[in-house]
Amino acid sequence: MATRKTAKRASPKAPAQATVRFYCQGIGDSHLLRFQKADGKDFWMLIDCGIHTSVKGGPRTVDAIVADISSATDRLDVVVGTHEHWDHLSGFWTAREAFKNIKVDEVWVGWTENPEDAQAQELDKFKGKALAALQGAQDKLSKTDSKHLAAVRDGVNGLLGFHFGLEGQKVRACRDALVGMASKKVRYLAPSKRPLTIPGLPNLRVYVMGPPRDEGYISIRERKSEMYGLGQALARAESLMAAMQSEDGGAQDSSAPFEPNMGIELEAMLNGAVDLADESIRRTHTLLKASYLDEAYRRIDYDWLSASAELALQLDDRTNNTSLVLAFEFVDTGRVMLFTADAQVGNWLSWQDLSWTVDGAKVSGSELLGRTVLLKVGHHGSENATLKEKGLELMNHPDFSAFIPTNKEDATKVKWGEMPYEPILEALDARAGKRVLRADDPWAQHATGSRAPFRAPSGSLRAIRRSNTKGLWVEVDVS
Ligand SMILES: [Zn+2]
Repeated sequence: MATRKTAKRASPKAPAQATVRFYCQGIGDSHLLRFQKADGKDFWMLIDCGIHTSVKGGPRTVDAIVADISSATDRLDVVVGTHEHWDHLSGFWTAREAFKNIKVDEVWVGWTENPEDAQAQELDKFKGKALAALQGAQDKLSKTDSKHLAAVRDGVNGLLGFHFGLEGQKVRACRDALVGMASKKVRYLAPSKRPLTIPGLPNLRVYVMGPPRDEGYISIRERKSEMYGLGQALARAESLMAAMQSEDGGAQDSSAPFEPNMGIELEAMLNGAVDLADESIRRTHTLLKASYLDEAYRRIDYDWLSASAELALQLDDRTNNTSLVLAFEFVDTGRVMLFTADAQVGNWLSWQDLSWTVDGAKVSGSELLGRTVLLKVGHHGSENATLKEKGLELMNHPDFSAFIPTNKEDATKVKWGEMPYEPILEALDARAGKRVLRADDPWAQHATGSRAPFRAPSGSLRAIRRSNTKGLWVEVDVS
């Protein structure tokens, strides 16, 4: 019978097994991993390269990141694109010229990005329709000064910033640019029976934890919440688009309850340009006129604009749940580095069902969590991207450490609520003590001065360094 493997504690003298350079652009991910091969050469992997549209000077920051990668290596063995969001992929497009100086062997993305995958095509259909509907809603929302809709407008704008660049470029262009970089192979990954191995790196196994294949997990937001099937979500996007088209006087609203000639234009009713001799029309005119100005938000068109907020959230959840999640295991010690991308609750829950067969023994998803000594915290530390009971609470290795790519100030500016989320910070602190590195930590954001958050070696971290360029990166040697 297979016995549960426990990861060893490392002595402070244990040699580093990997070096991870975490770029500190804030709301955006880019991580450069280096492993030493048996022949002494380096194996380089880049996970994501992006920054959120709302961050000031974002493309310039990404240029500095790519220049830094270039100065470290002229080749990347693998480039990983975790999911189709601007803050993870933007650099593959905005810095595409600079990337030409770096030779890329393989590109790894989730199965959800495979144009030949039938399930991915379904998901794509929803994404396309939802984006079109939301762009229409955003346009209308930008023209209203209703206070009731201000929150909806901010929410939709913030979420669309994950899908579009400053000049309206679509994130699909970034993904396609990334896939086009592969000189040897593009791998579309899904959880499988065996972990991946890499030639020349016998001490490393790579477990694909997500994206899950189960549609229920892709759409799930909170365990307790209602689950919407893809069909329903698609219908929602379609009716929002239909509502907008009919508002524009284009196609008729097929979901309207009456024939078009049965209604009276709102403007005419308000102006009194109607048959006021008809008592019911006169009464409606008086009522509407009295209540219209301060009750405008009750009108049906405002209603569907509000619905756009929910659709935006659904689109966001689904895309985040398509995150390619990778667990890197050091074979000799059983210790794990976990890169969660922006996986949300559904993706996390699906790890409980996973198991792999390694040397005749079973390895489960939750076991890998128990052996995690370095966590790349999900979705910039937001509320719904780190699971408690079936997530962080299983990560109880005494050497546990974590990095959060986040910037509280930027998140506040775009009104994202609490990002990073305080209870998650507390839970991370409880496990890692001071070994929680944040991109917006004063030490990370300066080239000189400020005190390092902790003294290395500590836990899984043999050493910590920061860039000579203000706020560009922090780097850790991991064992
Ligand atoms: Zn993100």
